[in-house]
Amino acid sequence: MTTEPKARRASTPWRPVAIYAVVAGLWIMFSDVLLAGVVEGLGAFVQVQIIKGWLFVAATSALLYALIRKDTAALRQSEARHRTSLESMADALILIDSQGRIVEANRAVLTLFGLAAGEVPTEIQRFIEVLDIRRPDGSRVTWNEMPSRRALNGETVREDEFLVQRLNGETLHVSVTASPVITEAGMVPELAVVVLRDLTELKRLERMRDEFLSTAAHELRTPITTIKGYAQLLDRWTPGGHEPREGKAFRILNRQSDRLTQLVQELLDVSRLQLGRLALRRQRFELGELVADVLERMQGVSSLHRLVLHQEGRVFVDADRDRIDQVLVNLFDNAIKYSPKGGDIEVWVSIEAGTGVVSIRDPGMGIPKERQGQLFERFYRAHAGLESDRGGMGIGLHLCEQIVQRHGGRIWFESEAGKGSTFSFSLALAEAAQEQEQVARV
Ligand code: ADP
Repeated sequence: MTTEPKARRASTPWRPVAIYAVVAGLWIMFSDVLLAGVVEGLGAFVQVQIIKGWLFVAATSALLYALIRKDTAALRQSEARHRTSLESMADALILIDSQGRIVEANRAVLTLFGLAAGEVPTEIQRFIEVLDIRRPDGSRVTWNEMPSRRALNGETVREDEFLVQRLNGETLHVSVTASPVITEAGMVPELAVVVLRDLTELKRLERMRDEFLSTAAHELRTPITTIKGYAQLLDRWTPGGHEPREGKAFRILNRQSDRLTQLVQELLDVSRLQLGRLALRRQRFELGELVADVLERMQGVSSLHRLVLHQEGRVFVDADRDRIDQVLVNLFDNAIKYSPKGGDIEVWVSIEAGTGVVSIRDPGMGIPKERQGQLFERFYRAHAGLESDRGGMGIGLHLCEQIVQRHGGRIWFESEAGKGSTFSFSLALAEAAQEQEQVARV
């Protein structure tokens, strides 16, 4: 909400103008009567009338001058305030008119791109060429995809990320937000406001974190495998078998080291994904068979749950079997973990709109509406801080999303608090399968 400052309201010149109008009106009405009583003779009266006229013009001019000066000073002060605000902004700001001309660029623009004053091109298209703007994956961006262009078309672009080249050759990672300036409803934007934020340092730190995670996870794998190996050896070496308590201890040791291995593997995968080091080994396989295989393995995890598979026809996909196995394990794991009261977990494998789709429905606690928006974000845990919090690292779903997206597929969910959730993902059908499907339809 914007409020008009008090000083501006007080400076509205209607009061002096009204006083002037009253005084001038009275003066015009009564001054001649007054003068006729005081001045004698026509010559002197004319002279006094001329002086009176001049005085009137002088007073009016002085009043006009004072008013204009006051208004100009207020205008200049407000302009100076706006300019100082623009110049003090930490983010770079560029104003572009509908012709693509840069009408304003603050000091942060110069600092960000290493330009001297006067080196900012006057046309935004020229500026874009100079900066060699690219997507974070290195691909080129067309003029129509540029946030400034989109803003001039009326679209608001939020935090789109780009790589730009400074004049000294350094590459910056920037986030761009662009909004149209529409002065009259229904009209085309007159200007576009583009705000650029430097994310280079943040991205460097994120990369360091991912490198660290990757190294730490890698280093942790060996001791965990050793612990598990020796625990199994000890288990086998015990002459005459275990006492019940010992047997239980070995089983727990085994299960927990498996859990630890899985967690470390997930951390490793997540950091590899971020660093672009997760390669896919695609092969053709039947999705239903894989789902049935995972389901069988997971069946023993909980005695409270019954896993039920529904499949109509065979669904061949061309994907990395191990990675899709990982997605399924994660989704089953969550379905069990977030249905603590138990019940049926149902799985459907089908062909929908030319893609292979797997849907897993649980009768669990569901996800509150307001916590659903960021579900696939790294380290996000929708139940954190709630009574229903089951612990975890919040990376399983992020991994699932990344793996599915790398296959060119899609992952989504429907959920209602207290009523359970359905998580689904789709994968393109293997080519031969597409042909088979077409033949079946004919
Ligand atoms: P984790 O389970 O380790 O916390 P995930 O990335 O697998 O991490 O899941 C992220 C969050 O999504 C979980 O913390 C949980 O709040 C929510 N979630 C995932 N699956 C389900 C589900 N089937 N039912 C309810 N909430 C779920």
